[in-house]
Amino acid sequence: MAVEDFAWENEQGVLTLLNDAETRACVFLVTESAAEDAPGLCAVHEDRPEGCRHYPFVLNDDDVAVLDEGCPFPEAFPPPGPEEAAALLNLEERMLRGG
Ligand code: SF4
Repeated sequence: MAVEDFAWENEQGVLTLLNDAETRACVFLVTESAAEDAPGLCAVHEDRPEGCRHYPFVLNDDDVAVLDEGCPFPEAFPPPGPEEAAALLNLEERMLRGG
């Protein structure tokens, strides 16, 4: 696939996954519905982007790793530790450097 078929590049040069026009979900999510709780599977699970591998852990404005507020199953995950923050900060740094 060409990059432009699944991602767009913002003004900082960071690639962001596109959303499907009908389901409004990630272009790689195989689902039949636009409902937020619709079942679906990632079509590229084995090769999913690194940010997806860390989800539902994200960085807050203070660069602290937290559970994303949009995660529908927060009780299924332990609180993120310093290793998650370090991994996310490393990813963010590489994304902003374009690597
Ligand atoms: S895991 Fe990532 S690539 Fe896969 S469907 Fe979800 S957002 Fe898209």
